[in-house]
Amino acid sequence: MSVPVLMYHHVLPQSGFITSSVMEFEAQMRYLANNGYHTLSADEFLAYKKGELKVGKKSVLITFDDGWRDNYVYAFPVLKKYGLRATIFLVTGWIEAASEQVGAEFIPAPHSKAKAMASQNPGALFLNWDEVGKMREAGIDFHSHTHGHSDAYFGTLSLEQELAMCRQTLKRRLGFDDTHLCWPRGKYDKAAINAAKQAGYEILYTTKRGINRANGELEAIKRIGAKGDERWLAKTLAIYSNDILGGIYSLLKPN
Ligand SMILES: [Zn+2]
Repeated sequence: MSVPVLMYHHVLPQSGFITSSVMEFEAQMRYLANNGYHTLSADEFLAYKKGELKVGKKSVLITFDDGWRDNYVYAFPVLKKYGLRATIFLVTGWIEAASEQVGAEFIPAPHSKAKAMASQNPGALFLNWDEVGKMREAGIDFHSHTHGHSDAYFGTLSLEQELAMCRQTLKRRLGFDDTHLCWPRGKYDKAAINAAKQAGYEILYTTKRGINRANGELEAIKRIGAKGDERWLAKTLAIYSNDILGGIYSLLKPN
């Protein structure tokens, strides 16, 4: 078997580039809840990968990248409604900047517009630590997506700084030493993997499609970019829960 890892970014009223509409997202989450799927925590997924935890056939890991504020406004109520867990990979420098603009009004901006406005309006676009705290209490996990995403919205950092500052910020704000890192834009090489391990990361998440067997392989977790409604999800889960079928599909369509 394989545990499929779903990758989301934005959830907004309208679907679009790396964006699920609220209706599509709700249809997908309803499908998981009504069909007996179990959403793992990131640490449960890590234990499964290492062969330390047996999980049911209908297990899935839901991930969100970046820490967009729409995750709190639109995705979180749906996750709560269906009693599902999810993991959000935070760009910690963005969350720090957002938290300096307390009281900023949320702007439901599509991805390209959100990026263009990010440096001026972090509080409107990114989660703040208060919202992160509320989601954590409800079982949402938060892990590393570097400190600045190499996007230079709030200054430029070396890879070592991106990793160390992200880890330090999570330790200071949430009180744990993180071992889960998701690569910004899915970009990494052997040197980056070594730097991540040096920084203290144990499990590394990519944007490559594929299967995740309980084989101890932690350097390149495969994820599937979510799109469409529950029909897309049903088909995708059927393929990527099956290591043979999922293996064939990921060769045909690696990204
Ligand atoms: Zn990202």
